[in-house]
This record gives sequence, C-alpha cells and structure tokens, in this order.
Amino acid sequence: MDTLAFPDPLIDDVQRLLALQRYAILDTPMEPAYDELADMAGHVCAAPVALVSFLDRERQWFKAAVGLEVRETPLDQSICRYAARQTGVFVVPDLAQDARFAHFDIVTQEPPMRFYAGAPLVTADGYVLGTVCVLDYVPRLLAPRLQELLLAIARQVIRLLELKRANERQGHMLVELEEARRQMAVLAHTDVLTGLANRRSFTDRLRQELALLQRGGEPACLLMLDVDHFKRVNDVHGHHAGDMALQHVATLCREVFRAADVVSRWGGEEFLALLPATQVEQAQAVAQRLHAALAARPVPGIEPSLVLTASMGLSPFDPQRPLDITLRHVDAAMYTAKREGRNRTVVA
Ligand code: GH3
Ligand code: MG
Ligand code: MG
Repeated sequence: MDTLAFPDPLIDDVQRLLALQRYAILDTPMEPAYDELADMAGHVCAAPVALVSFLDRERQWFKAAVGLEVRETPLDQSICRYAARQTGVFVVPDLAQDARFAHFDIVTQEPPMRFYAGAPLVTADGYVLGTVCVLDYVPRLLAPRLQELLLAIARQVIRLLELKRANERQGHMLVELEEARRQMAVLAHTDVLTGLANRRSFTDRLRQELALLQRGGEPACLLMLDVDHFKRVNDVHGHHAGDMALQHVATLCREVFRAADVVSRWGGEEFLALLPATQVEQAQAVAQRLHAALAARPVPGIEPSLVLTASMGLSPFDPQRPLDITLRHVDAAMYTAKREGRNRTVVA
C-alpha cells in the first residue's frame, strides 16, 4: 500500500462518519468493558501497547489505551488509517523500515515504536469505524492464529457498540412509553372540553372521601351546579359558543374553589364539586362567590354579551348514607333551586 494522502476518501465518507456518530462513542469516558478488550488484545499478542481506536474526521481517538498515555493523535500520524483498508489484520513488522511510517512521532520519539498490528472495526453494514491494534518496541511478526484472535476481539468491540446503542434505544422507548402512559392516565381522568375531572375519576374521589368520613374525617360538602337555560345558549349563540360557555364556567370554578376542593364535569352542563373539610356555611359562601363571578363576568369572546346564571344544590356529605343517596339529595336540592326561580343555591 502506498502512502495515503489527504483528503482521505475513506475517512471523510459522510455515511461512515454518520455511522460513527450513531454509536455516540467519541469522547466518552473510559469504560472497563473496552479497557478489558484492549488488555486482552495486548496479552493475546504479547504486546506492551494495545488500543481501541476510532477514526474521526481529523483525529484518531482512543476509547481504550493500554501502555500509552495519549487519548488521541492527528490523522497524519495514524497507522490505523491504513489498517482500516484491510479486511484482515494490517501488520507492519518494522515501522522504522517502512517509508510510510518511519517519520511518525511514535517511531522517532524515545522509546521508538517498531511494530504494529491492527484489526479493523467493521460494522454489520460495512463501515470501518476504527481498529483494535497492538504495538511493540521491537520489530516482530504476529502468528496467523493470533491475527484471527485480534480480529475476534475487534468483532467483540463492535458487539459492545451495538449493545450500547440497543440499550439506549430501549431507554428512549421506555421514556416515550412512560410519557404516553402518563398522558393516557391524565386523559382517562379528565373531561376533554373543560380539563376538569370527569365523572368516572370524580366518583372514585367521592368513594375515597366517603371512606375517610366513615373513619371520622372532617365533615365535607357536595355542591351541584347546573347552568340555567343552557339549551337557550346553544339555540341563540350556537353550539360552539355553548362549549365556550362551559369552559368559562370551568375557569370560574377553578378561580372560586379552593385548592383542596375537587370540581368535576358531572354531565352536559352540570358540575359537581367536593369540598373536603368544609362546613355548610363555608360551602354556601363558596357558592355565593360563584354566583357573583358568573354575574360579573360574561363569557369572553361572545357577542352579544352572554351572562350565565346557575342553580346549585348543596349538601353535607353524610358518612352514614350510601353515595348514590347523597348524590340524589344534592341533585334534588339543585332542582329545588330551579323551581324556586333559578340563579340561587338551595341547601339539602
Ligand atoms: P335548566 O335551566 O332547566 O337547566 O335548562 P337547560 O336548558 O340548561 O337544561 P336542559 O337540560 O334542557 O338543556 C341542557 C343543554 O345542555 C342541552 C344540551 O344540548 C346542552 N349541552 C350538554 N352538553 C353540552 C356540550 O358539551 N356542549 C354544548 N354546547 N351544549 C351541551
Ligand atoms: Mg342539566
Ligand atoms: Mg341546565
């Protein structure tokens, strides 16, 4: 093989550089798995220096280096660049006698390196990433059987790289899967239009609260809200405006209720709230604030101005009653509010 010039089409091959990038190995810290393979190469070949070397665009970088301090050298000092062109092991019996390498720093420096043998690191899709190579301070040869072993170690390096990439892919997939699972859990518990708790998740919450109350927890209240004449909103302003109005009610609920309260979209234009650790008088005050907020704030973005009112039923959460009976009570209170003229709250 003649002296290799620059630019070097093998090194600069964009596809090869991309393949190298995909393994994300360059400039990573030393790792025992690679150190051990380099150590093995040195032992098998009875050589004092052994390297796992990757050929980057302008340098060769060592993932593992036994018997050598440096972690990288410029490409014009690279013997591995020559080894990368072989399918078998590239052997230079005496570097000092080889015109291609005699002027290299490692050959002219003290103590001079004299022997080189390198096996290419070839990926399954045929890209040469670098070499596993050994060096010695004396001129010598490498028996064919040992060359085979050096090639086998090179294949092990490739397997390590593949494993690392597969692990990383799996890691990414797990993260994505977890995120999808989280989003699905949120969706399963949320009403899409308003972002409030949906009926199913709220029912679970009510059951929890009932169990708590039965164990002597602080008294709680339930508040049922039904928007007044909502059918008219749809009829006059359109269904889209109706949706916006429901979102507006949800927004006001978020503002008026306290952090510990849970509000749900119970049905079409019905909202049901749980107010834990709350006396009826406090809950009434919350209901009044909600009436006031509805009156003061028309549904934004709707012309002509749309002011909503709501009828509400309020009931203490009685731990002695089954949940469906309690819900019937609060519903009945809300319907009483309707009958009594709407835009008001009735306590069960
Ligand atoms: P009342 O004061 O007696 O409660 O009268 P109302 O018109 O509010 O009651 P009714 O139950 O007759 O009508 C409720 C309306 O709410 C009917 C339905 O089309 C509407 N609705 C339910 N869900 C949605 C929704 O998601 N979006 C919109 N735009 N309308 C909805
Ligand atoms: Mg209704
Ligand atoms: Mg209604």
